[in-house]
Amino acid sequence: NSFMELNLSRPLLRACEALGYIKPTPIQAAVIPLAMTGRDICGSAITGSGKTAAFTLPTLERLLFRPKRVPAIRVLILTPTRELAVQVHSMIEKLAQFTDIRCCLVVGGLSTKVQEAALRSMPDIVVATPGRMIDHLRNSLSVDLDDLAVLILDEADRLLELGFNAEIQELVRLCPSRRQTMLFSATMTEEVDELIKLSLTKPLRLSA
Ligand code: AMP
Repeated sequence: NSFMELNLSRPLLRACEALGYIKPTPIQAAVIPLAMTGRDICGSAITGSGKTAAFTLPTLERLLFRPKRVPAIRVLILTPTRELAVQVHSMIEKLAQFTDIRCCLVVGGLSTKVQEAALRSMPDIVVATPGRMIDHLRNSLSVDLDDLAVLILDEADRLLELGFNAEIQELVRLCPSRRQTMLFSATMTEEVDELIKLSLTKPLRLSA
């Protein structure tokens, strides 16, 4: 019951150590080994459970082991609010601090021009709120999701409560169908189930 047993590479183990993480939380112990097989995952998890590292660590591991051939956005993480996006982005920067993986933040309230430049530089990971991400994809010919490998829907119940259903569906359609998708939600409502059916393939359901 340690991070070592999860087969994570050294730069990720070093980051966990630097953050003072001694052992995986229950959701991390459940999600990380299965996510590393590439399967789609849907997880019931609340804030405070360690869910951010649960989806970030296997995703970073995948980027380290399958480096991209051309610069491209490989991972898109959608969150319901700007505040959550900022938190997830900061967690990823900490977990990726000993790698050269780059992560950028795309949310309302920040300069569109600055974000546009950041997206054009092809970060490996984009953490975004749905509306702002769609604006960029519609308005920029140089930003696309054609090489996306992993899509993560964080706090899916809140994404739907806040009325982002149409935006999420549009974003899912812009992703390659061959991809890994992970969805996390505090509650599993009928609407969340609909979204799971629409965007995940044979998902493993995990809770902790
Ligand atoms: P989250 O549920 O992702 O919002 O994480 C809640 C808090 O738990 C964050 O401050 C994390 O840094 C912390 N955390 C995540 N994983 C661990 C762990 N394995 N050990 C100790 N703290 C952790």
